[in-house]
Parts: sequence; C-alpha cells; structure tokens
Amino acid sequence: MRREKIQADIGLGANLGDPQQAVLAGIEALRTSEGLEVLAQSHLYRSEPVSAGGPDYVNAVVRVFSELCAPDLLALLQHLERRAGRVRSYRNAPRTLDLDLLSFGQGRIWSKSLTVPHPRMRDRAFVLRPLRDIDPSLVTSAELERLSDQRIALVGAEGA
Ligand code: ADP
Ligand code: MG
Repeated sequence: MRREKIQADIGLGANLGDPQQAVLAGIEALRTSEGLEVLAQSHLYRSEPVSAGGPDYVNAVVRVFSELCAPDLLALLQHLERRAGRVRSYRNAPRTLDLDLLSFGQGRIWSKSLTVPHPRMRDRAFVLRPLRDIDPSLVTSAELERLSDQRIALVGAEGA
C-alpha cells in the first residue's frame, strides 16, 4: 500500500562547535532519512540568540514530503539531535543542533510532546526569514518588519 505523503516544514538551528557544518549535516541527514523526501531548502542565516545568551546561531528551513506520521517525524528529529551530540540541559540552552517541526500539512496538533504549527515560530525572525525563501506566501513583509530588532543576516553577508 502506498502511504500518503504529507508536506512538512522543519526548522534547523545550531550555535555550538561549527554551527554551519552542524546545520548542513542536519540537512544531509534529513535527505538520507527513510520516509522523507527533501523538496526545498532555504539559504543559511546567522542570527543572534533570542531569549538566551551564547554564540550566534546558524539557521535554515527545509520542506519535506513525509511518509512518517507527525509523532514519528518528531522522534526522528530528536534522534538526529541526539546523534549530533545535543544534550538537553535547560530551556533555550546552546545546542549543537535543534530540529523543530514547524508545520505538518494542514495539521493542528496539541499533545504533551508536540504542538503544530510550532507555537513560537511567528515570533522568530530566524524561522520566518528562511521560511520565506522556500514559501513566500507564508510570510508577509509586515511580519518580518515587526521582528526587525532580531539581528539576522545571510551567512556570508554578515555586516554587509
Ligand atoms: P525549542 O526548540 O523551543 O527551543 P526544545 O528544542 O528544547 O525547545 O524543545 C523542547 C520540547 O518541545 C521537546 O521535548 C518536544 O517534545 C517539544 N515540542 C513541542 N512541539 C514541538 C515541535 N513542533 N517541534 C519540536 N519539538 C516540539
Ligand atoms: Mg526544538
């Protein structure tokens, strides 16, 4: 039986070690994961930590077709986070790789371990900027303008 494929958006972020390498490795891991097909990938951005200290983040957003159900996709993302060496110490702690499920089809999920669409994504320039790369219809200029106090730049164009 062919399983239904659901389009999902995944946000990636890293700010420890070599964060650009960690995000690129994360995207590669998604590309080679069973049950996922990567449809689009944003540019890489460098952003200042929101509600936290520590080094700048590198961020990206990837759009996939998923044959996995949402809980299985979350489990895969958490497996990839652990494989990248992430240790969950405290909320908003620096991390080698953070993988967030931003959306899952038209699905709305409120469970103990999963909320979709991601509840804080609309407050985060580091999600909305890369999300706009892959789907401009999802992010308005006004929304980005409202978040213009959050420093973010294309990797390679910082300080330009
Ligand atoms: P954040 O990404 O908000 O900085 P974490 O990555 O530490 O925080 O996430 C902590 C918890 O958030 C995880 O244990 C996970 O179960 C839960 N969670 C709820 N909704 C989502 C989602 N849409 N994507 C990823 N994790 C989620
Ligand atoms: Mg997360």
